Amino acid sequence: MFFKEKLDLVDVKIRIRNLNRTGIYFDENLECYILNYNEESIDYTLAHELGHILLSKKTNNLIFANPPFSDDVDETFFTVLDYLINVIVNSLVSRTNNLYEYYKSFFHFYINLNVRFRNKTELVAFIISTQLEYQFNLKPEDKGTYFFMKMERYYTTLKKQPNFNQKKFDNILLQLNNYKKIITSFELQEIINFLFEIIGMICENFNYMDESEIRNQFHIFFPDRFL
Ligand SMILES: [Zn+2]
Repeated sequence: MFFKEKLDLVDVKIRIRNLNRTGIYFDENLECYILNYNEESIDYTLAHELGHILLSKKTNNLIFANPPFSDDVDETFFTVLDYLINVIVNSLVSRTNNLYEYYKSFFHFYINLNVRFRNKTELVAFIISTQLEYQFNLKPEDKGTYFFMKMERYYTTLKKQPNFNQKKFDNILLQLNNYKKIITSFELQEIINFLFEIIGMICENFNYMDESEIRNQFHIFFPDRFL
């Protein structure tokens, strides 16, 4: 497979299944990764899913390519975490072996989707993640009013939410610049800090979870780091 070679993953055992929902996990019994893939998705989707494996290898942490299936995982927390991990995965893939152009067309596709959100927290997380993609993964020459206009749609929805606090939201946006180095270093502890801090800002500022609940969720994903 083209992307497997590009990402230097030819030795990794992967089975591709045609499924509506895209995603990846490691099947212990089959001893291989299962990549669920909707054939109607764009090519980059495959590269992205493989990117989860690459990030796992780089950080030596299987969780990025094999998320836990547990009733204790809060669905919104999982969605928010996934959005942010995806930014790091895309950062890695778009910087590997000339895959940037594929990434760019994906971002174009992604920003045009009409994503549905369970609640305000997921909407905020989506906006933050696209903002991170825009700031760090898109090359300067590709940034322009077009993407901004597309992202504006979500801002408009957010601003209409009851009790929306502009100040708190702007404050999160201001912090994002501090993370440029982290999402390109691919160092495990730095990635975990990034995830914990941004999720903290999103969930606490918009009153979804308090810090101890966030810690409990993180413990499921990174048990040896969150005791
Ligand atoms: Zn992903």
